Amino acid sequence: MNIDNKFDCIVIGAGVSGIHSALLLAKQNKRVLLLESTLYIGGRARSFIDKQSGDSIDNGQHALMGCYTQFLSILSTLNTDNLLYRQPHLSVPFMYSDGHSDMLKADVFSGALGVAFGILNLKKLSLSEKISALYFALRIRLGLAKSGSLTAFEFLLSENQSTHSIEILWTPIILATLNGNPKEVAASLFVQVLTLAFLGKKDASTLILPKVGLSDLLSPFPDWLAKHNGICKLGESVEEIVFQDSRPSAVITKSGEIYHSHSIIMAIPPKSIKRILHKECKEYEFYEALDQYTFSPIISVYLWIDKEFPDLEFAALLGTNTQWVFHKNAFMHNNISSTLLSCTVSAGNDSIDDEGASIAMQCLQEIKLCFPSVKDATLLHWKVIKEKHATFLATPEIENKRHSTYTDIEGLFIAGDWTDTKLPATLEGAAISGYHAANAVLTSKSTVFSHS
Ligand SMILES: Cc1cc2nc3c(=O)[nH]c(=O)nc-3n(C[C@H](O)[C@H](O)[C@H](O)COP(=O)(O)OP(=O)(O)OC[C@H]3O[C@@H](n4cnc5c(N)ncnc54)[C@H](O)[C@@H]3O)c2cc1C
Repeated sequence: MNIDNKFDCIVIGAGVSGIHSALLLAKQNKRVLLLESTLYIGGRARSFIDKQSGDSIDNGQHALMGCYTQFLSILSTLNTDNLLYRQPHLSVPFMYSDGHSDMLKADVFSGALGVAFGILNLKKLSLSEKISALYFALRIRLGLAKSGSLTAFEFLLSENQSTHSIEILWTPIILATLNGNPKEVAASLFVQVLTLAFLGKKDASTLILPKVGLSDLLSPFPDWLAKHNGICKLGESVEEIVFQDSRPSAVITKSGEIYHSHSIIMAIPPKSIKRILHKECKEYEFYEALDQYTFSPIISVYLWIDKEFPDLEFAALLGTNTQWVFHKNAFMHNNISSTLLSCTVSAGNDSIDDEGASIAMQCLQEIKLCFPSVKDATLLHWKVIKEKHATFLATPEIENKRHSTYTDIEGLFIAGDWTDTKLPATLEGAAISGYHAANAVLTSKSTVFSHS
């Protein structure tokens, strides 16, 4: 066996979960090989150059929050955390399709108290709705609100939230963080989001936006890994995991290369795991669990227009199909060819099969309704990106059954935003799953490290 092809751990998939697990293992002086089937790193969190405009755009606009400690630690290791725009405090403009607006601003106090004051100042909520929202937030903060196996909608009703406040206050948060309708998604995850982010510590709720394309945040990783005795190979799709004595011993790639290790982390989606595992694995419990996930789409619409946009970084839209608009010129580093708006339709099942052009036109019409100052804008160029499997759908049923990093095969681990992180499918969830997998490799009694 060629010693150069032998590793302490092989990580399959260079999304955020795979990158984080490889990074943590390399920091512990383990020799790591990371194999990625595409030619880019970042997985779903990637960017590319739009050919017509020459501008860098993301696979879908990503927003981070101050509570993303694990994901932010990856960027700090790679020295790219300086490429982020950070709000001084949580501040979310709400724009209505009838031209009205509102603002959730947490600038009086930091942390949960600031958010509470922000809710008190919302114009569109009645006094009794504000009091109910604050009482609900307090119950969450004190751990008194029990979500059980309810959906977020059932839970909010049980906590005396009116359908009006569910629509204008809670639904935008649920769609943005859980990529699902309140009537579908697990209340337990919603509670977790509120606890960690909106009612969390000091800066937990502040929004953070990349000033560069997403890929630029992670692009130093292959060089970083090389300096830490590891290898990141792009364009190397793993086709099969080889087992010996009921343990993984190697992987075989599409190009026919064989790489050896007794520890393998599969940081790839459930469907891809099934594809590379041997038929014998079918008898294992974790293999069956891979079939239980369903997925929810996100539609990202990029609009280049010829008019200046109001001076704000982003806004939540209400009464429209489009839910968020991000004003790229307001926070991106590079010069952008004209005014560039990045719009998001989360849980976009209703429009996912529509023509790109009609999605873009509808989105532009909605922007014009919400921002009358651009009602005469001409559309110079558009791009619609449909991610049918953007995130797993976190129903109460799935939430109870998300799989941990351990499989029932020694030396074989899983990672990914869909594993049991107690968080929705987010960059932070993916980073946490990478942490769990790396920890499992390091602490597994039977792990054999060949180079330590
Ligand atoms: C449009 C969109 C918008 C989003 N917005 C946000 C947001 O605003 N905030 C937020 O926090 N999160 C957001 N997310 C979610 C976030 O992007 C994901 O949770 C995260 O990137 C998932 O990382 P991962 O490592 O779990 O999986 P992935 O990113 O899917 O990585 C898996 C990797 O494995 C590779 N792979 C698969 N099979 C093989 C194989 N056989 N061999 C080798 N490699 C293989 C794939 O090519 C891929 O690179 C968004 C996602 C989408 C799609």
